[in-house]
Amino acid sequence: MEIFFTDKEVNEYIEQAKSTYDQIRPDSDFNIIHDPQPCPIINFVDDKKGKWIWRCHIDTENPNPQAWSMISDYLSLYDALVFTKLEYARKTSHDLIYQIPPSIDPFSVKNKDIPEAQARDIVEKFVPIDLPLVTQVSRFDPWKDPLGVIDAYRIVKEKQPIRLVLIGSLAHDDPEGIEWLKKVKDYAKNDPDIIILSNLDGVGDLEVNAFQRVSKVILQKSIKEGFGLTITEGMWKKTPVIGGNVGGIKLQIDDGKNGFLVDNIEESAEKIIYILKNPKKAKEIGEAGHIKIKNEFLLIKHVERYLDLFEILSK
Ligand code: UDP
Repeated sequence: MEIFFTDKEVNEYIEQAKSTYDQIRPDSDFNIIHDPQPCPIINFVDDKKGKWIWRCHIDTENPNPQAWSMISDYLSLYDALVFTKLEYARKTSHDLIYQIPPSIDPFSVKNKDIPEAQARDIVEKFVPIDLPLVTQVSRFDPWKDPLGVIDAYRIVKEKQPIRLVLIGSLAHDDPEGIEWLKKVKDYAKNDPDIIILSNLDGVGDLEVNAFQRVSKVILQKSIKEGFGLTITEGMWKKTPVIGGNVGGIKLQIDDGKNGFLVDNIEESAEKIIYILKNPKKAKEIGEAGHIKIKNEFLLIKHVERYLDLFEILSK
């Protein structure tokens, strides 16, 4: 169903963007405006001095036509546009369009190295680790397909004992997240081997880090995904990652080499079983995943890509 925005909603959007003008320094050499929310801000700049870049983090391959047409008026005012994947710019006509994917900071609490024993101690506060853990870390959201993850777990569970951990952050003011958490809990039907955790249980960055290390498999069975930082985070930690064959996940995983791309529930289950049954191969895949992230998706590479763009814009 196509959503249609009323004039009132469009005005609210523009007013909200305008209200964020105070938060920027429009006289900077480079101004990078992120995502659709503040995009119209460029229209309120009096004396455009530096270069203006719009950085889009979402998958805009098939955007809502009305929303895209509205955004397009502003995009033409920017000096360059940056997308996670060039495909996301399909509906855009602009001379300077760049692909710059996101990255992770290897020294952040979420990604820093922690000793194995410490990681196990942290995880054991929440879940026993006598069985292999298969973990998905993501918002409770239909595009992350948490119900499909439970279906895949059930297929695996018939063949071998595992525990499924679903970790999702929740905000008190996120009614959709709360609704989806309930759906997921109902679907899990009190299965003691499905453990559902959130930030409200005390699972923060360090705990996510530990789960991503201790788990035998990191799953991100998304059906739509702009990039998928949880893929990057899992691969960085040398844990075999299985991801949905969509969007930004395809930039990161080379199927069969440094992770697995899956198209459905059955394939997800099949790859989980493969990883659990082939520890040597799982280790190789984990190592290859780490190298891919090291070369392509760490902060340092991200800075390098931006500096290249600044250089082009300065000519
Ligand atoms: N995340 C987290 N706790 C949770 C769920 C998610 O810390 O309970 C983090 C996750 O580690 C990642 C980010 O939130 O860093 C989610 O980014 P991603 O690109 O995977 O998905 P998005 O939520 O942006 O669609």
